Amino acid sequence: MSATFGHFINGEHVAGESGRLHDVFNPTTGEVQAKVSLATQSEMSKAVDAAEKAFPAWSAMNPQRRARVMFKFKELVEKDMDNLAKLLSSEHGKILPDSRGDVQRGLEVIEFACGIPHLQKGEYTESAGPDIDVYSMRQPLGVCAGITPFNFPAMIPMWMFGVAIACGNTFIVKPSEKDPSVPLRLAELMMEAGAPAGVLNVVNGDKDAVDAIIDEPRIKAISFVGSSDIAQYIYSNGAAKGKRVQAFGGAKNHMVILPDADMENVVNQILGSAYGSAGERCMATPVAVPVGDDTADKLISMLKPKVESLRIGPSLSEDSDLGPLVSAAHRDRVASYIQMAIDEGQELVVDGRDFSLQGYENGFFMGGTLLDHAKPEHKSYQDEIFGPVLQIARAKNFEEATALPSQHQYGNGVAIFTRSGAAARDFVAKVNVGMVGVNVPIPVPVSYHTFGGWKRSGFGDTNQYGTEGVKFWTKIKTVTQRWPDDIQGSEFVIPTMG
Ligand code: NAD
Repeated sequence: MSATFGHFINGEHVAGESGRLHDVFNPTTGEVQAKVSLATQSEMSKAVDAAEKAFPAWSAMNPQRRARVMFKFKELVEKDMDNLAKLLSSEHGKILPDSRGDVQRGLEVIEFACGIPHLQKGEYTESAGPDIDVYSMRQPLGVCAGITPFNFPAMIPMWMFGVAIACGNTFIVKPSEKDPSVPLRLAELMMEAGAPAGVLNVVNGDKDAVDAIIDEPRIKAISFVGSSDIAQYIYSNGAAKGKRVQAFGGAKNHMVILPDADMENVVNQILGSAYGSAGERCMATPVAVPVGDDTADKLISMLKPKVESLRIGPSLSEDSDLGPLVSAAHRDRVASYIQMAIDEGQELVVDGRDFSLQGYENGFFMGGTLLDHAKPEHKSYQDEIFGPVLQIARAKNFEEATALPSQHQYGNGVAIFTRSGAAARDFVAKVNVGMVGVNVPIPVPVSYHTFGGWKRSGFGDTNQYGTEGVKFWTKIKTVTQRWPDDIQGSEFVIPTMG
C-alpha cells in the first residue's frame, strides 16, 4: 500500500486534516492499494472559499475563452487516456476497454460544452411593446457541487462539471470514496488546460462531506448520482436549504423481447448489457422480459451456455468480458440477493457464486448468474442488485410486458427488441420510463441529447447534460427595456403592451 489521497483545492493537492481514512481496494487482488482522506466541514469550507474567489473572474470571462479551456481539456484527457483508464480499472475493477469507454463518454459531454458560446445565448424580441424590447440571458449560479457514484468515476464527474464550468460556474466534485484517483487527475488536467485555480476542486469524503455541501449556503446547486435513498435524501435536504438539486438514483432496467425479435441478436446484446462491467451500470439490463413461453425457453437455451462461458479476468486485461466487482462487501450483497431469489422460488439456471479466478483467489470476482421466473412480488426483482445477475420475468403478452417496467419503482432505462415498428412505437409511447432503447440495449443518450430516469431513478426537474444541463447550471434573467425620449405618464393598471 502506498498513496494516501487528499483533496484538490485552489489548484493544488492538499493533505486531508481529519485523520479519517477510507480504504481504496484493488478489486482484482483484493488488496488495499491506497487510502483516501475523508473531509471535514472545515475542509469543504476551504474548497468553497477557493471556488467563491474564482467565480467573479471566471463567470465574467468571454464564453469563447471558457470554451477554449474545454477544448484544451479534451485534448489533454485524450492524451492521458491510457493512464486514466489504468487508474480507473485498478480501483473500480472494470476491464480496460470499458474504462476507456467511461472516459470517452465523459469527453463527449466536454465536446458538447465546447459549444457553450452558442448554447448560453439568450433570446431577444424587438418591439415586444411600444418602443420596448425584451431580452433574456442565462447567468451562472455561482459555486456548484457534484456528488458522484463509484461506477463511472470519469464519465459522471465530466457530465456535471463539464457543463457547469463551461457555463461560468465554479465547482466542487465529491467523488465516491471507492475510486477517487480519476476525479483528482481530471482536476489536475483542468488546471493544465488553463482553468484558473479554484474553478474545479475535488474534496474526498463520505456522508460528512455530503452534509457539509448541503449545509453550505454558498453552494447554489447540487447534482447527485448514486443510489435512490441517498438521492432522495440529498434532493429533499438540498431543496429545503433553497438549493437547486438534481439527484439521480438506482435502476432496474428491463429488456422486453417480442416473439418476432431476432433471437441471436437479442442474446448477443443482452450478454453485454447484463454482464458487462459486472452489471455495475445504472443502464445495465438486469431483467429480461420474453413475451410467451416459447420466446422465454428459446432465450434461455441460447443464453445459458454463453453465460457459463463468459470470460472473466483481471481488470487490467484487454480481452476479458468482465472483471471483478468493486468490493467484497458488494460481492457478498449480490450473492445474498441470488439466495433471496432462489428462496422466493426463482429457478437458478446458472450460478456464478462459486467462481474463483486462478491466481487471484482474493479478488472480488463472481461468475454470471441467470435466474428464471422472477415475479413482481419478489423483493429480489423489486430491488436493484447491481451485479452480474440476469433475472427473467416472463410475460404472457405485450400489455403485461409493458406493465412490468412501467409499474416498477425504478424508471431509468428500458429496451424493446422486435421487428415490428408498430409494436415498438406503441411501447415507446406507453412505457413509464425515462430512456428507451428500440433494438438498443443500453440507451444512454448522446451528449447533445439528455440523460435522466423517472420515478425513483430521478429526483428533481432537469436532466443531466444537453441543453437541459445548460438550464440546470444557469438561471435566466429577463430584461424589459425602453429608452424614452419623452415623459411617460403613470400607469395604474398592469401594463399589457396590447
Ligand atoms: P451510493 O449512493 O452509495 O454513493 C453515491 C455517493 O453518495 C458517493 O459519493 C457516496 O460517498 C455518497 N454517499 C454514500 N452514502 C451516503 C450517505 N449516507 N449520505 C450522504 N452521501 C452518501 O452509490 P454507489 O454505490 O457509489 O453507486 C451505485 C449506485 O448509483 C447504484 O444505485 C446505481 O444505479 C446508481 N447510479 C445511478 C446512475 C443514474 O444516472 N441514475 C448512474 C450511475 C450510478
